[in-house]
Amino acid sequence: MSPKDLPKVELHLHLEGAAPPSFIRGLAAEKKMDISGIFDEKGGYAFKDFWHFLKVYEAATSVLQTPDDYRRLTLAVLEESAASGVIYTEIFISPDFCGGRDLPAWRDHLAAIQDAAAEAERGLGIVMRGIVTPIRHFGPDKAREAAICAAETAGEFIVGLGLGGDEKICKPKDFAWSFDCAREAGLRLTCHAGEWDGPQSVREAVRDLGVERIGHGVRAIEDLALVDELAERGIVLEVCPGSNLALGLYPGWRKHPISELHRRGVKVTVSTDDPPFFHTTMVREYDRLAEAFDWDEGVFEELARTAAEAAFCDAATKANILKRLEKKDA
Ligand SMILES: [Zn+2]
Repeated sequence: MSPKDLPKVELHLHLEGAAPPSFIRGLAAEKKMDISGIFDEKGGYAFKDFWHFLKVYEAATSVLQTPDDYRRLTLAVLEESAASGVIYTEIFISPDFCGGRDLPAWRDHLAAIQDAAAEAERGLGIVMRGIVTPIRHFGPDKAREAAICAAETAGEFIVGLGLGGDEKICKPKDFAWSFDCAREAGLRLTCHAGEWDGPQSVREAVRDLGVERIGHGVRAIEDLALVDELAERGIVLEVCPGSNLALGLYPGWRKHPISELHRRGVKVTVSTDDPPFFHTTMVREYDRLAEAFDWDEGVFEELARTAAEAAFCDAATKANILKRLEKKDA
């Protein structure tokens, strides 16, 4: 079976970051907005480094203004994911972009996103859940407002709280109030760490925020005692190898630590982060990993199972996803 046909579970995908460039260009044209500066000559997103990437990301996001824009975006993103064989996806959604952290506006955006998710599930069989993700470099006060939006809409669809953005701004503990608020509302927790910042940031996210998953977390490999601790505690890493390579964190696929983390017993999963920005898809990730580490179908099946087990959805949905992973040959 080729990687394309294996059923996949993705845990780390930013809704706006997954926006196909053609979709963003079309929406900009409809609204007569000029954002041509963010594209390269081939029509893809163009940026120099991580911090420039954040700027381009925000410029692309500026054309997404109404709940209906988000409905159309969600459909476009889920179509791409389903085409890569993704059967279950958890997507980061930010009240910062969806209604400016105003609760009624957030509810309207969320309803539109949920409509699109239901339509994609009916038509394409892909199941989506949402993780509310404050933007770290907007600061802890805005994160509180986003966390309140998350807590107020926690339920079957909104299943978690995350934290994305520039890891160099603030410490995890500065966001403890937001994570406590989400936990009390029954949400599950994840946080970006150990991508741009070192292993200490992973330790702090686990210790100070009580997260059960880490977004990226790959730089844990620089501290083997931490690697052992992650393995023992069953903390799951949402690893996005193509994203790390595109942003220059590692010089090549064979140098990426995912295989070593896996060998040392850490629960690793594979996701695409912001796929069109990094010129990747889940199929490409599988292809490159198979090539770099000689991984066979069995490894990818194990990774998909790990991801399904670490999913933040309810038990019935999870059981269904696990069943679909088993029945891949049916
Ligand atoms: Zn991310």
